[in-house]
Amino acid sequence: MRKKSDSPIMITKSFLPPIEEYKKEIERIWETNWLTNMGPIHQEFKLKLKKYLKCENISLFVNGHQSLEIALKSLELKEGGEVITTPFTFASTTHAIVNCGFKPVFCDIELDTYNIDVEKIEKLITEKTVAIVPVHVFGNPCNVKKVEEIAKKYNIKVLYDAAHTFGVEIDGKGIGSFGDISMFSLHATKVFHSIEGGILTYRDETLGKNLKNLKNFGITGPEEVVTVGGNSKMNEFQAAMGIVNLRYVDKEIKSREKVAEKYRDGLKDISGIRFLKDIPGVRHNYAYFPILVNEEKFGITRDELHDKLKEYNIFTRKYFYPIITEYECYRSKYKTENLKNSKYVGERILTLPMYGSLNIQDINYILDSIKKCQLV
Ligand SMILES: *Cc1c(COP(=O)(O)O)cnc(C)c1O
Repeated sequence: MRKKSDSPIMITKSFLPPIEEYKKEIERIWETNWLTNMGPIHQEFKLKLKKYLKCENISLFVNGHQSLEIALKSLELKEGGEVITTPFTFASTTHAIVNCGFKPVFCDIELDTYNIDVEKIEKLITEKTVAIVPVHVFGNPCNVKKVEEIAKKYNIKVLYDAAHTFGVEIDGKGIGSFGDISMFSLHATKVFHSIEGGILTYRDETLGKNLKNLKNFGITGPEEVVTVGGNSKMNEFQAAMGIVNLRYVDKEIKSREKVAEKYRDGLKDISGIRFLKDIPGVRHNYAYFPILVNEEKFGITRDELHDKLKEYNIFTRKYFYPIITEYECYRSKYKTENLKNSKYVGERILTLPMYGSLNIQDINYILDSIKKCQLV
C-alpha cells in the first residue's frame, strides 16, 4: 500500500528511453560532425514522422511555439488582421497570434469537449478576419468538419494548435491532415517528445518554401537571403531523441489508455466529478486526464481539492487556469462578455497525474485520496 510519506506523485513524468539506445543514435553525430542545420538525423526523423502522422507535408522546428509563429507568418495573411481563437488554452496559442501582429478574437468553448464552439465562430467573423486558430484541447479533436465548412465559406485559413494531439486520428486519418496547417509540440512533458521540438504539417506543399526560409534566417544560398526569417531549426540531438522515442510511443499511449480506464472506473460513481469520454472513430492519445469539479455536488471546490491533494503528496494542475483573457498581459484588452463556458470550465478544471508508468497502486491511492478529501 502506498503511504502519504512515499515520494510525491507529480502531474507528469517525462518519458526517457533506455540510455543505450540514445547513445547509439547520437554516436552518429561524432562520426559526421554534423550537429544541426537539417542534418541526416533530422531528415530521418522527418521521414519517420511523416509516416507515423499520416501527413504528406511536414517540417521540423526547435520547439512548438516557434513553429506556431512561423506557421502564422508563412500564410502571408493581411497585416493586423483578426484571428479567432479560444481563451481555454496554453499561453503559447495567443502569444503567437499577438507576436505576429494579429488581433486575437476570443470564441467560447463547448462545455463537453472544452474545444472551440463551432456554433459561435460565424458571429465573430468580420471583413478583417484572416484565420481561425482552434486548439485540440487535451488531445480531443475539434469539430474539424464544421471548422472547414466555415473556413471555406468565408475564405479564411485554419491553423490548428495540435500541441496535445500527437498520434491522434479521426477515422484513420492523421489529425494533422485537417486545416491548412497543424502544430504539434514535442516538448518533454508531452505524450511524445524530442526534448524540445515542434512539427508543422501542412496541406499546400508550396508553403514548404516559406517554412524553410522562416526557420533559417531566410537564407537560400551562400550569398542569398530572401526572407526576414529567424532561427528555429531542430538540431540533431533533438531529432535523435525523437527517433528513439518514436519506437516507444505506441506503448506509451497504450499504457496511458489503461491509466485513463482505471481513473474512469474509479471516478464514475463519485458525484460532482466529470471526465471526458472517448469519441467513436477517434484514436485517442490520453495526453491528459482532466476532471471537472462541481462544488455543489462534490462538496468542496476545485481549489480545495487541489490543495488537499497536495497534503497527500499528489500534485495536480489547474490547467488551464486562469483563462488567457484573465492574464495580466491581456486583461481588459479584449472582449470577454461571451466567454461564459470558458470561465466556468477554467474555474472547475483539474488535471490529474497522467503518464504511462503511473502504476495501479498510485492510481488507487489517488482515487482513495480524492474520496477522502471529499469527506473532511
Ligand atoms: C505545449 C503547448 C504549446 C507550445 O509548445 P512548446 O513546444 O512547449 O513550445 C502550444 N500550445 C499548447 C496548447 C501546448 O500545450
